[in-house]
Amino acid sequence: MAAVEDLLEFLPGADCRQCGASCAEFARLLLARELTPEDCPVLHEPDYAGFIEALHELLGPLAAAAGMRIDPEKCNGCGICVAMCEFHLGNCAAARLGKGPRPQDQVVFRVVNGTVVVVRQELCTRLVQAAEKCSKCAQYCPTEAIELF
Ligand code: SF4
Ligand code: SF4
Ligand code: SF4
Repeated sequence: MAAVEDLLEFLPGADCRQCGASCAEFARLLLARELTPEDCPVLHEPDYAGFIEALHELLGPLAAAAGMRIDPEKCNGCGICVAMCEFHLGNCAAARLGKGPRPQDQVVFRVVNGTVVVVRQELCTRLVQAAEKCSKCAQYCPTEAIELF
């Protein structure tokens, strides 16, 4: 499991507090899954290309996010779930145009280094729908990598 020091290697170290915290506090919040790498605005600058993906790799997938499990062994990174997600289609302009989400877009999951990674599982519409729960990501996944429960 990654430590704060590992994550700090891929944070700007500027302590600019645009995220509301110092870089070290931000790293602790990443480990606690209260923030995601996308929440640091500085990491979206070209100088830090690849850092967000590296942080996701260090943090690893959310192994057993409530209500959703993605098997990294089965996922081939095709991105169909990202394109079909009901939340993405309703809230992400790029997804509505058939494009992949931009780094700053709020998404349930995104493809990082060839595997889908859960970023904000709490955005999944299953958590707010009382009836007719969405299951599109699992339904369309060609490798049956997504389990919803
Ligand atoms: S916004 Fe980014 S660079 Fe600035 S303090 Fe937060 S983590 Fe560090
Ligand atoms: S649709 Fe399935 S195989 Fe494709 S990225 Fe999503 S989880 Fe992975
Ligand atoms: S179940 Fe959730 S994550 Fe899957 S497509 Fe529907 S809204 Fe998106």
